[in-house]
Amino acid sequence: MTEAPKRFPLTLAALVDAKSKTSGLRTTRIVATPQTATRNAASDSAKSPSTNNPYIPAPKKPQGFNPAPSAVSAGKSSPAKSLPVTNLGSRHLTEDRPTPLVSEGVRKAMVARIAKQGVRDVSVLAAMEAVPRHMFVEPGLASQAYIDASLPIGQHQTISQPYIVARMIEVMRDNQHGGVLNRVLEIGTGCGYQAAVLSLVAKEVYSIERIKPLHELARTNLRPLRVANIRLHYGDGMLGLPQAAPFDGIILAAAGLEVPQALLDQMAIGGRLVAPVGSRQQVLQLIQRISKFEWTSTTLEDCHFVPLRAGTV
Ligand code: SAH
Repeated sequence: MTEAPKRFPLTLAALVDAKSKTSGLRTTRIVATPQTATRNAASDSAKSPSTNNPYIPAPKKPQGFNPAPSAVSAGKSSPAKSLPVTNLGSRHLTEDRPTPLVSEGVRKAMVARIAKQGVRDVSVLAAMEAVPRHMFVEPGLASQAYIDASLPIGQHQTISQPYIVARMIEVMRDNQHGGVLNRVLEIGTGCGYQAAVLSLVAKEVYSIERIKPLHELARTNLRPLRVANIRLHYGDGMLGLPQAAPFDGIILAAAGLEVPQALLDQMAIGGRLVAPVGSRQQVLQLIQRISKFEWTSTTLEDCHFVPLRAGTV
């Protein structure tokens, strides 16, 4: 049944084991090479033919793992707002949450756009296609859930833009273990969306939120999806989660002026941390832990995130 892999809860094996490398990323020691998504897309398409990516329309038939065969035609989908929900997750919508007017086609179109912007990792694209983003925004904003923008989630915070969510996870997965991630940590749960995407590409996901009502919102949003491998924590993510460390991957969903040392210390050797860094001008940074006392840093592209703040509220 071709629909099966697109439903929540998913069998992790279907996505975690899929081998796909991000072809565009070149890491260097302490190098600043700002990239825009567009440039990134251009260089990626130059480097790797799109023939093995089901999300990029290609002349040849895609081979091997193909989590979403219909996504090739995603570009044709129109974001028809009048379509009823027939997609994954709709089975699990809670009674008190009105069914938003979104269609699976709209989500596929979102994923096709993300692929066009340069995200190549099919496991990440499949995870983006699997998570019902509209269930993480207020019902009033559900019709906008699949546009490529951040949206308000209350408490002056936002759900991150889909492209950047996908991009960060792609960068984190581009590791020496063919994308296998046992334990990952997210700082800034917000509404829980990125944690849900992460749950499809990592065996265990830990996510910390410092604002109590958002921590609870994420719990509420994730409950109907019955994701078994996410642990939500309320606390200051700048301190990390030493009791669960080391982490193969760490993602910060909020920007600090620098990456807290506690998080660097909680990375596994060979682990990858992806974080926005800066205040008004921010860049996405990849930090890799080379050895017990050695880390490398690569600047990837411009980005815009809410600020990383200390303490809890
Ligand atoms: N991951 C979310 C994005 C949420 S926005 C998504 O899926 O869209 C970033 C979140 O980081 C906000 O909710 C903010 O409260 C939180 N945050 C900021 N500083 C933090 C800290 N020190 N510890 C934990 N969360 C933090």
